Amino acid sequence: MSRPYGVQAAVLAGNSIDASICAHSGTTVERRFAAADLPRLRDAGALDGSQLTARFAFSRFEGRIAIDGELQGTIALPCQRCAKPFELPVDEQFRLIVAREAKDLDEEPGGYEAVLADPVRLDLQVLAEDQALLALPLVPRHPVEDCDAQIAAAVEPAPVESQPTQKPFGDLRDLMRKR
Ligand SMILES: [Zn+2]
Repeated sequence: MSRPYGVQAAVLAGNSIDASICAHSGTTVERRFAAADLPRLRDAGALDGSQLTARFAFSRFEGRIAIDGELQGTIALPCQRCAKPFELPVDEQFRLIVAREAKDLDEEPGGYEAVLADPVRLDLQVLAEDQALLALPLVPRHPVEDCDAQIAAAVEPAPVESQPTQKPFGDLRDLMRKR
């Protein structure tokens, strides 16, 4: 009986991989992602031109599947100050351990963060996207010296105090008097 596919190629193709085999053999897997591949990152504002490379080094730690990972590249985002796009550099390290059940999520053996996943079909895209989302700043914007809005921002009036005071019942009282 012939083997139709190379086992290793089948295990490592695509974004869904068998992490137990990778951990057993100490395999490092690398994947590249664009914004189009990462819908949650797109929803968070990432633009075309985002390019991320994720590396997952698999090993066993205390009988479990451990991942020493890196996420590098750039995420293109619209600046919240001047609305023009800018490239956020990303250089993140992460250490994950695969938890098969929710009850194992509270543990952090060896400083690894537990993630709930099916080790036989570990989705690398989901893991990379999680890390990319964690790398996003609360308010994405250019460094101040590169931002077109730096002068405008400096003279921007305070937003709350400049509002005219609203008198919701003022007009109503006038109307009642006219009856
Ligand atoms: Zn800007």
